[in-house]
Amino acid sequence: MGTLQALKKYVDDFPDIGETMPTLFIGHGNPMNAIEDTEFSIRWKVLGNELPRPRAVLCISAHWETRGTFVTAMEKPDTIHDFGGFPEELFAVQYPAPGSPALAHQTKDVIKKAVVGLDTKRGLDHGCWSVMRRIYPKADIPVLQLSLDHFQPPQWHYDLAEDLAPLRNKGVLIIGSGNMVHNLGLVDWQHSDAAFEWAREANELFKRRIVDGNQRDLINYPSLGKAAILSVPTPEHFLPMLCILGMKEKSENIEFFNDKIVMGSLSMTSFKVS
Ligand code: ZN
Repeated sequence: MGTLQALKKYVDDFPDIGETMPTLFIGHGNPMNAIEDTEFSIRWKVLGNELPRPRAVLCISAHWETRGTFVTAMEKPDTIHDFGGFPEELFAVQYPAPGSPALAHQTKDVIKKAVVGLDTKRGLDHGCWSVMRRIYPKADIPVLQLSLDHFQPPQWHYDLAEDLAPLRNKGVLIIGSGNMVHNLGLVDWQHSDAAFEWAREANELFKRRIVDGNQRDLINYPSLGKAAILSVPTPEHFLPMLCILGMKEKSENIEFFNDKIVMGSLSMTSFKVS
């Protein structure tokens, strides 16, 4: 098969399905959610039953930052254990979902804001698989990851959504995985239920603007003041949320879940757009 024919085949593999898939932002938090039944991971399990079955999942994880934009394009992505100091049991977890070179090509094709690189080496990081393992435990739906561009600002990641949104009409479930309040330096490791006042304040500030459709404030989050700045000391856990919000149509609703602060400075707050 010639290259052009091969590309044509890829495009044909993901035709429009006549409906729009929901899209999700998920606060992933502690990687142990992958193996422990917590209130959060139990909710993820329920999601798997609630959502229409996607043809594939495209995950934008806080844990993949690159120079430029990349999409995983291998047939069988590895499970990356990109953390330290956790039990052996967590390192033993494999999430053997297939990839989809076809969807990788199509993703590259729809993104006009960047020349997207096809990555055939990396695999799936814990921001992706710790959640996917709960939503789709059978690992029988193709999963791809799209990287964050470390050198692009929040506005760029918000605008990227416009390019990605058409994939929702092709049966692709797009998931942003991060944490809207995420300050690891200030985590209270001793008290899982702790919530610092500023973390609570920022969580509410962000939610209010999500509900009001005030994306401008969210894109310029440092302008929201000290609570927001403390909650987003580095942008990578916040950017996946902006990208998902950018896909919301005016007629769509936001449904929050797992709306809780843990360990003082992490918010698990998540939402579905549908
Ligand atoms: Zn993380």
